[in-house]
Amino acid sequence: MKALILKSVYDLLQGSQPLEQVDVPMPVPAANEILIKVSCCGVCHTELDEIEGRTPPSRFPMILGHQVVGNVIRKGAQVTRFQESDRVGVAWIFSACGVCDLCSNGLENLCTEFKATGRDAPGGYAEYMVADEKFIYSIPEIFSDAEAAPLLCAGAIGYRSLQLTGLQNAQTLGLSGFGASGHLVLKMAHSLFPKSKTIVFARNKHEQDFARSLGAVWAGDVTAIPPFKVDAIVDTTPVWKPIVESLKHLKPGGRLVINAIRKEKEDKNALLELSYEDHLWMEKEIKSVANITRKDVDEFLQLAAKIPIKPEVEVYPFEQANKALHDLKHKHIKGAKVIVMKGN
Ligand SMILES: [Zn+2]
Ligand SMILES: [Zn+2]
Repeated sequence: MKALILKSVYDLLQGSQPLEQVDVPMPVPAANEILIKVSCCGVCHTELDEIEGRTPPSRFPMILGHQVVGNVIRKGAQVTRFQESDRVGVAWIFSACGVCDLCSNGLENLCTEFKATGRDAPGGYAEYMVADEKFIYSIPEIFSDAEAAPLLCAGAIGYRSLQLTGLQNAQTLGLSGFGASGHLVLKMAHSLFPKSKTIVFARNKHEQDFARSLGAVWAGDVTAIPPFKVDAIVDTTPVWKPIVESLKHLKPGGRLVINAIRKEKEDKNALLELSYEDHLWMEKEIKSVANITRKDVDEFLQLAAKIPIKPEVEVYPFEQANKALHDLKHKHIKGAKVIVMKGN
């Protein structure tokens, strides 16, 4: 089968071809696994973190990709949840131990045995992949394959972030960064908390316009002064400056939730501007979001179908995955990027 592999950590400032197209043997599903013919796979900022070594694959070569939509074409002997031809999705959580205290308490996302799709096990940048039937989702009919892909990560982790803010209806929300995840968080916030006003911090003018077009009452740079302070902020940026700056925009007792697997180190100096008095005093909180549970993915897919939330997607053919990654790193284009296999 055709696959795109990452052979080693790669500097995207030096080159633009991190992934190499190769022919590899088709994977064979174990008794608890299904074989999926991949239709499309979302492109996530986490892939940049894997490629550039901030959260590198646990082995090389690795097939990246953790927002996978496809159809079941074969199943292991013990598989009962799915049938051949079912349309399914695979998300960031590839597996967790299932028995530790964290797993038993609904925090399988924090399990020490947590394995990530496309980082610790081959993912969806390939014609086929295998996954445990317990870590696979049915895709609601309302979505096309390409629409469903970004929901599996950007959407689901956005949902978890929003839950972790503890926001109540009519409380105010800020979003820092307005890419694939940010725009989905805005849509679900408006549905879950119809009386809440949302403001958006984004550097890029197009992102600011996009945010206003989706109902943000204000959008501007994080260094600008918004019309009001907010109860909670979700940060989806890869950098540090918005963390420090956005803390100023929190109300007393407000909470900043950082939805990023790793932060880039280029602007780490921004942290030296952190002032206890302006940024943390008055019981302000900072909380990170780590990984995702199956419950997050399931609940979010149901919510997204009900609202409905259809992500804005930008489609790239399989052969242009490197271009999609390049565009994600260097250009600010609205919506989520999805790699589509030929014939879909
Ligand atoms: Zn992701
Ligand atoms: Zn566990």
